[in-house]
Parts: sequence; C-alpha cells; structure tokens
Amino acid sequence: MSSVLIKDFSKKIIAWYEEHKRELPWRMANDPYKVWLSEIILQQTRVSQGLPYYNRFVEKYSSVRHLATAPEQEVLRLWQGLGYYSRARNLHKCAKQVVENHEGNFPNSFEGLKKLPGIGDYTAAAIASFSFKEVVPVVDGNVYRVLARVFGIDTPINSPKAKREFFELAQQLISKEQPDIFNQAIMEFGALHCTPQNPVCDECPFAKQCVAKAKNLQKHLPVKEKKIKVRKRYFYYRVYQQKKKLALRLREGKDIWHGLYDFDLIESAKPLSKAGLEKQVGLKKFELSEEYKHVLSHQVIYARFILLTSKPKNKELQFFSLKKIAELPKPVLISKFLKEYEFLK
Ligand code: SF4
Repeated sequence: MSSVLIKDFSKKIIAWYEEHKRELPWRMANDPYKVWLSEIILQQTRVSQGLPYYNRFVEKYSSVRHLATAPEQEVLRLWQGLGYYSRARNLHKCAKQVVENHEGNFPNSFEGLKKLPGIGDYTAAAIASFSFKEVVPVVDGNVYRVLARVFGIDTPINSPKAKREFFELAQQLISKEQPDIFNQAIMEFGALHCTPQNPVCDECPFAKQCVAKAKNLQKHLPVKEKKIKVRKRYFYYRVYQQKKKLALRLREGKDIWHGLYDFDLIESAKPLSKAGLEKQVGLKKFELSEEYKHVLSHQVIYARFILLTSKPKNKELQFFSLKKIAELPKPVLISKFLKEYEFLK
C-alpha cells in the first residue's frame, strides 16, 4: 500500500469535500442529538427519502428529552414508511436511557456511545467525531466502496474480516486535526463521486493512484459475498368490517412489524388455492383483493385481503374507527390497502 497515498489521502478528500459538499441540515449543527437522529434515520435509507423524516422528528421532538417522553406508538407512527421498525423502537429506548442514565446528555466518547441501544460502531463513530471531534473513523457502505477501489481491496465487505480491515485502514487515513470533516468527506465522496454505478474516474483526485481505475476494476470492487436467500411468504388478511369500524390487532413477538397494527392473518408457505382459502375462511363467497407484493430486505410478502362482515373469532382483534386507524402505527402494506380500498385518504 503506497505510503504517499496514505499520507495524502485525507488532504485530498477534504479538499474535494470543501468544493463539492451538499448543504444538509444536520451538517450545520454538531448537536449529538441531531447527529444521532440523522444517522439512525439514514441507515439503509437514501438522503432524499430520509430528509423529510429527519425534519419531522426534529420539529416534533426538539431535544432528546422530548423524544424520551413521547409515547412509543407516536414515535412508530412518525417513523411509518421508513421500514426496519426495530430502529425506531431502539431510537426511543436510547432516548430514554440518555435521559435516565446520562442526565439527558449523550456520552462523549466512541466507547461510551456504543453502550446505548441501537448504536453500533458506525453511529458511535459519527457522533463521537462530528460532535466531540474524537479521532475515530466512520465506516459505512460508501467508505467501504471508496477504500476498496482506491486501495484495491477485494475482501468481501459483508464478511466479518472486512469490518476490522477497513476500520484499521480508515484509522490510518483519518485526519487527526479534522476527524469530523474527514468522515463527512469520505462518505460524501462515496455518495456523490465514487458512486456504485458511475464513478467519475476522469475527474477524480485519486485518478493517478486508484487501483480500481488502473486495473479497470470499478465494477468488481467492492466485493460482496452472495446474498442470503430471500424468503417468500404468503399473507391472507381477514379484514372484518362492522359499521364504519375495522378489526386490527397489535403485532407482538419476534417477527417483522413488532409493535405495529395489522389485520387477522392467515400465513402460508405456499400460495393457497381457492378451495384452500375457502376452507381457511369457512365461507364459499367473499371479496378477495388483488395480490400486493411487498419487498423487505430478506423476504418478499405476497398479500391478499379478504373482506368480511362476519364476527371475528380471534380474541386479539379490536375494532377501531377509521379516524383512530389513521393514527395507529401500521406497516406500509396495510396503509396501501386501506388507501386503495378508500378506508383512508
Ligand atoms: S478513480 Fe474512479 S474508482 Fe477510483 S476513487 Fe476515483 S472515482 Fe473512485
């Protein structure tokens, strides 16, 4: 690995950043609450999608104390549409711990931050460097890509070995004087310049040293190990309707959508035939929706909704007015059905 490149890396990337950075609201502040909020929201989410959520959260809860005292359902409702709801639950849990155990102040070190729920290496490094200027690198997907290409590293980035290897390299590269700017710069460089599909190699500050450019490996770096098999699930929702109310239940247990509301569910590993469905529902005639396909990270859900006016047997179900249903936290799939069938606007 070129020592000149290691020495110059942070200067070059910071110079690039000063010229090309986007103005993003959380960059204006080094308030750990805002940094934390933006990092949790932006995990597995594009900036354009996450930005309105960030603004809504900051507007509704101006400090970690406000967020800590909010009801969980209200937090989940505000999060609705972002997916990965465990992040929202951890967000709330973390806010409570900061208030209860740290007098409303985030710990000011990488190690201290990692002890909080939902805060892993990445988020801890972001808060510690942006808010407290600790010299600790942030290693996200953008950073993996930039480093794998510039230094020609072919360790699969989703392997356990990669985490340590890339972190150690980033630790050698990070600016000791401006760790916060360095971290912002390398992530921004990956997001805007050294992008997955169209890296701008001809106008790149690393054009002369970049291994991927020299060997034409941009499409092959970073390396990823084969994806986990996607699980297919078939959901048949019994939607019980009485007057202007619908029956929903709170999802509990370890499955997806814990803490959100959906309808009475029949789940099957295979699509059900008409006869199979009639048997499950106990009726010959009923209104059945078209199939809704809902894609999650490791599973695809094929859902159909059965509209019923009979009395439900499932004791977990509760009838709610449409006004109340609008306020309940729900999976996007359920909201989509409710809108298409004009239960909700
Ligand atoms: S030369 Fe191309 S692949 Fe290498 S860092 Fe620059 S943009 Fe990325």
